[in-house]
Amino acid sequence: MFGPNSSAATHSPFFFAAPSPQTYMVPVAHAWARARIRTQPGNPAFVTRLPLNVFYDILYLLHPRDLLALSRTDKALRAVLMNRSCAVVWTRVLSTVQFLPKCPEFLSPPALTSFVFDAFCEVHCDKPIGKVWHWTLHIRLCTDCSKDKAGSALLWPEGELARSDRKRHACILSILPKSERKAYSNRSRRDTLAILCAEWDALDHIWDLSGKKAWIARKKAELRAFQAFGKEGAEYERQARTARSAELHQKKPRPRAEATSKASPREFAAGVGN
Ligand SMILES: [Zn+2]
Repeated sequence: MFGPNSSAATHSPFFFAAPSPQTYMVPVAHAWARARIRTQPGNPAFVTRLPLNVFYDILYLLHPRDLLALSRTDKALRAVLMNRSCAVVWTRVLSTVQFLPKCPEFLSPPALTSFVFDAFCEVHCDKPIGKVWHWTLHIRLCTDCSKDKAGSALLWPEGELARSDRKRHACILSILPKSERKAYSNRSRRDTLAILCAEWDALDHIWDLSGKKAWIARKKAELRAFQAFGKEGAEYERQARTARSAELHQKKPRPRAEATSKASPREFAAGVGN
């Protein structure tokens, strides 16, 4: 259907920055051997001296957030962890997180990990904290960048699309992914809208009716996949919030009444008497 080579993936500036095709095709054993050669004393890549199966067994015990942090410590280690053969490790550690959506075709496992567990705004604005996850658009932003402002990452497509060409207007709106968040439900990605408009105009210029129909069908299939991911992501966020609230509730200090009853004079006297 679509994957890393599809238009949505290749045109997206937020798509996982994969290694070059040559590196990507190298079997993990080769990348591993190369990493071992480069290892210097005191370098975090010392772990590459371990046998590969032992190294994998250690990685399986990590939380995805820790695996992501580990991949950013050393170039050689990163080359190993970002190798396609290492996808099994990412997939396995991601599966340990309850309610987390399965990795969709339009994201690589490291990209999904970064999307869910990083905390910066993905447009690299002045505010480093981005805590608004737009799952359907697979982008994490700060509140300002989520708002419909000039230059922000999201926009209100109704206000951008020319209404003069009614067919183009209706078609683009029907295939454009929108945020699943209620506060931003009419917002779409600025870059996605630009790509869809450019592709439509290119097809319109050629006037290939069958090609246009096939393109619309493909985009609708992509939209359904984005929306399914958005639904699962919103549910994960809700469950994670509930679990966090329960955890904080448990950590709350005991009520004063309970503490007072334990330190009552009678019990204290009984304790001294014994
Ligand atoms: Zn921002």
